[in-house]
Amino acid sequence: MSSIIIPVVGFAFVGLLWLFFRPPFGKNIIRINTDQRIVALTYDDGPNPPYTERLLDVLAKHNVKATFFMIGNRIEKHPETVSRVIAEEHQIGNHSYSHPLLGFLPPFCVRRQIERTDDLLQQYGIAKDSVFRAPMLTRFLPVAYVLAKGDRTHISCNVWSWDWTTQNPDKITETVLKKTLSSTGAGSIIVLHDGKAENKDANRSGTIEATDRIINALKRDGYRFVRLSDVRRMAISKRD
Ligand SMILES: [Zn+2]
Repeated sequence: MSSIIIPVVGFAFVGLLWLFFRPPFGKNIIRINTDQRIVALTYDDGPNPPYTERLLDVLAKHNVKATFFMIGNRIEKHPETVSRVIAEEHQIGNHSYSHPLLGFLPPFCVRRQIERTDDLLQQYGIAKDSVFRAPMLTRFLPVAYVLAKGDRTHISCNVWSWDWTTQNPDKITETVLKKTLSSTGAGSIIVLHDGKAENKDANRSGTIEATDRIINALKRDGYRFVRLSDVRRMAISKRD
């Protein structure tokens, strides 16, 4: 009897893990559905002055628009930075209120984290259903459930810069360009960081320098830069 029970329990356990970490419902966008040379630069964990401002200077120099996934408690602290991001026509998304490991929290906490930042963004005229990205991209079961209930999409990425592990601009640039310029690069959503969740004074000089180089290299290769709102209809939903 136990020879049947053990594999059954094993399969059930693996199934539950799969359901938790890769919920097979809800919308999860990892890239833009296009074969054109289009990419979206996205920046997480800000606003983080003076680095966000320095990054805005670089983006303005190249006339490139990006998407910023901001943390609610930083929005409260740095309203002038938020206003400048909006004035310069970048897009702002919701990145929770205090950047917890959202995927491991119960649904009511997940909802509260999202709604608090929604309310803050609304004060800047940003719609309640603005784009959302979970901290550390933990779109696990509680997050997927809350988003699906609100008919809301999670924005993931297909190009990881790994700039949360290094501020060496050479390494960040190389990592991003290698993946973006590969055969699957068209339509890439690139994740970078103008802040760092666990350090409110994080120096992001490496990311800013890398952004300058990444834009130069991709422009040379004929790439255009878009905000996620520019390509809403072109964005594909994937579960992975
Ligand atoms: Zn984050």
